[in-house]
Amino acid sequence: MPFLRRGLGELRLRPELLSVNALTHRAKAVRFAKSLIHGYGLFAAEPVEAGDFVVEYVGELLRRLVSDVRELSYVRQGQGDSYMFRLNSDTVIDATRKGAVARFINHSCEPNVVARVISVDGAPKIVFYAKARIEAAEELTYDYKFEFEDDKIPCLCGAASCRGSLN
Ligand SMILES: [Zn+2]
Repeated sequence: MPFLRRGLGELRLRPELLSVNALTHRAKAVRFAKSLIHGYGLFAAEPVEAGDFVVEYVGELLRRLVSDVRELSYVRQGQGDSYMFRLNSDTVIDATRKGAVARFINHSCEPNVVARVISVDGAPKIVFYAKARIEAAEELTYDYKFEFEDDKIPCLCGAASCRGSLN
């Protein structure tokens, strides 16, 4: 399986810097549970309104070069899932070892949360917002926006508009 990095898609080119300070907004209550999409996933534990801040993608902020070296060591160690998130062309957030629950959010081609870059005291952070109302017990999903590759990873999101693969 290729070791891909999640990304922001078109936002990589022009990061959307929201004026919202995520830290002043309480993260939503979430629950970690077995997912029908892949392994374990993250589920809402309370209803979430459209536009609400849900959770932050917590991890280590790495320079691109450092993340390249680390990626090779993960592959050698047989670390199967990638929890690296491309923030921009030279910064990656690695949630593999020091990440929080947001790393378990699965991919969907019809996601219910969307990733945004915000600036908190000058430091970039990736935060997830609800695209629409989310009911309690609904699985949280976002579009990983993996880069296009020949070696396809099948998508099991189950959405009507599923693209069939993650990349
Ligand atoms: Zn899909």
